Amino acid sequence: MAKKYDLVIVGGGPCGLMAGRVAGENGLKVAILDRKTEIWRNRRFDGGVVGINEYTFGQLAKFNPRDKRIGFPVGGFSVPYDGPHTNVFGFCINSPGGKKVRFGNWKELAKDPEKNRVAIALNKEVLLQRMLEDCEKTSVDIYNNTNVTEVKAGNNKVTIVGGGQEFEAPFCVAADGSNSRVARLMGFNKERTFFATSRHIGVEVTDVDYDELNGFNIILSMQGYYSVLPMYKQGVCHIGHLTHDWKVDLDKKIEWFMKESPVYSNWFKKARIIPDGNVSCIVNVYMALEDPFKDNVILVSDATWIQEVSIPSAICFGWKVANAVTLALHDGKPNREGIQSYIDWYRTNCYEEYGKRKMVAIDLQKYLTAEDLDYMAELPSTVGKIFPGTMDFHLLFKLLGNTYLELFPKISEARPDIMEKMLQMRNEMDEAGEERRKMGFPTKK
Ligand SMILES: Cc1cc2nc3c(=O)[nH]c(=O)nc-3n(C[C@H](O)[C@H](O)[C@H](O)COP(=O)(O)OP(=O)(O)OC[C@H]3O[C@@H](n4cnc5c(N)ncnc54)[C@H](O)[C@@H]3O)c2cc1C
Repeated sequence: MAKKYDLVIVGGGPCGLMAGRVAGENGLKVAILDRKTEIWRNRRFDGGVVGINEYTFGQLAKFNPRDKRIGFPVGGFSVPYDGPHTNVFGFCINSPGGKKVRFGNWKELAKDPEKNRVAIALNKEVLLQRMLEDCEKTSVDIYNNTNVTEVKAGNNKVTIVGGGQEFEAPFCVAADGSNSRVARLMGFNKERTFFATSRHIGVEVTDVDYDELNGFNIILSMQGYYSVLPMYKQGVCHIGHLTHDWKVDLDKKIEWFMKESPVYSNWFKKARIIPDGNVSCIVNVYMALEDPFKDNVILVSDATWIQEVSIPSAICFGWKVANAVTLALHDGKPNREGIQSYIDWYRTNCYEEYGKRKMVAIDLQKYLTAEDLDYMAELPSTVGKIFPGTMDFHLLFKLLGNTYLELFPKISEARPDIMEKMLQMRNEMDEAGEERRKMGFPTKK
């Protein structure tokens, strides 16, 4: 016999837990199913750098360290966070030879951290623990060790099979992350363009000899892209590397970066990798989903998106969908019309502006030499360009795109060789995308 609920949520990440809490607070009978034993554990790669003080998808996150809460003033709700944090002031792109494109003057910004920080590095496990406790306070039934393997939907009813049990509800919210099985089972991915499989590795490192760890460092090395992020633990940073090529040995890439890379290996001369701090993840990257609703299954957050949204955005998806389901049931409309407020919100705030974009992963290093990249990285500062501190990737790419567009005449004059290589790169972009797609899991031979 199926267990009966008003709402069954697949996935107890930040989105599923928020959806559970809000639906529970609204008085619905809710179940969250998650395949993990300890739902709050986070062994999957996540930088834990949470954007605050900037709008994303029409929402805003604020951090209140005195009351230990992350507030969302547009939505009018908050979540508890009483773990440690480190302030983060912006991005910095570092070229192979150590030239920098810096977003924000971090030293200046750090003088008034509460006002100027654009993110905090937090402990995601503490956040998930507190969110889980909130769910338990509102009598949400939590089913851990419950791997969802089947979804049967139709006639305004959804039956979910997981962990040898059946669950039934008028609505199912699929918050099962970027490799969503529910999306696959329900055929959502058939409507989406597949871009690539991205593989990530991360290590936690202490005793790093670099005094600018209060920002999100992106390193453009000749062996690919690396990230060096501050962590919530003082004096500890997180090194990440990403590839779309399944043949790449990720451990060796980290070793090369720390021991042999020109310029950057100097940061790690005395560094120690923290045992047990290694994380990884593999994501099949699809285009964002235009229509997140099918047969009363609603896809949310990473499950709908191009690789990932972010922790605060995931929370906002959870809040919005839970309220929409509550209204649908209250209004006696257990169907698409009932949750139209969620679909409209998703379309307006997320899909229309950001969702139609193709993934463009440009391998600059394949076309430009280290010296070319140093020249390009130095150029904005030589013409007095100052970028604001931001943790918004969309803004980062927009500002960079506009700046280099303005600088094209200067580059053409001073370095026509670089212009030629960039044009070749642009002409071969579609081919490069196709190569990446072929290397991905769903297409790899
Ligand atoms: C490499 C990488 C780095 C990132 N770094 C950051 C960062 O620094 N800052 C930031 O804000 N965001 C970051 N993100 C994004 C962030 O991790 C996600 O946007 C966020 O966790 C999405 O939340 P979610 O609840 O939608 O999904 P998830 O957090 O992925 O949660 C999904 C849940 O569903 C469960 N699940 C999956 N399949 C099943 C199944 N079949 N049955 C039952 N349960 C299932 C999983 O166990 C999991 O608990 C990063 C993402 C990646 C990939």
